Amino acid sequence: METTLILLKPDTVERGLIGQVLTRLEQKWLKINGLKMMEMTPELVSEHYDFLADKPFFPKIMSYMTRTPIVAIAVSGANAIATVRMLTGATNPQEALPGSIRGDFGLTIDGNIIHASDSAETAEVELKRFFGGKDIYEYARGFDDVL
Ligand code: ATP
Ligand code: MG
Repeated sequence: METTLILLKPDTVERGLIGQVLTRLEQKWLKINGLKMMEMTPELVSEHYDFLADKPFFPKIMSYMTRTPIVAIAVSGANAIATVRMLTGATNPQEALPGSIRGDFGLTIDGNIIHASDSAETAEVELKRFFGGKDIYEYARGFDDVL
């Protein structure tokens, strides 16, 4: 069983899409273990996207991610990291397939709706970054044993 980190980005909050994106996760039978609204500080954006710091579009990412609160979500399930990346779709919504979250809700790279951890290593680091070992809850659901 894996746990991964999802961020619902500012455009998702601004456009009233939190519920619709959460529904995609729940209907896939992924388990929501943690859910909180928070502001990303410039320091947090710099840390989270440090591998993009020297890109010309980094200032755009900085203002995008800090302009409105985000929703951080810890999600678990069998193969959850790859499964959530599949649900999320390609980075650029113009390349994301219909049926994926970015393909269905996003129009341009400047508003791509969601972040999802891309490997077991990043999931571990990012869950610590956004939840700091707190506010993640374990609980049982019916039929969990067959998933
Ligand atoms: P994320 O990490 O947000 O889940 P990703 O893993 O699909 O997205 P990354 O390459 O990690 O893609 O890029 C991180 C984020 O940086 C993208 O989600 C997007 O918000 C932003 N970004 C990436 N490339 C561009 C670009 N060319 N122009 C503007 N923003 C970009
Ligand atoms: Mg990424």
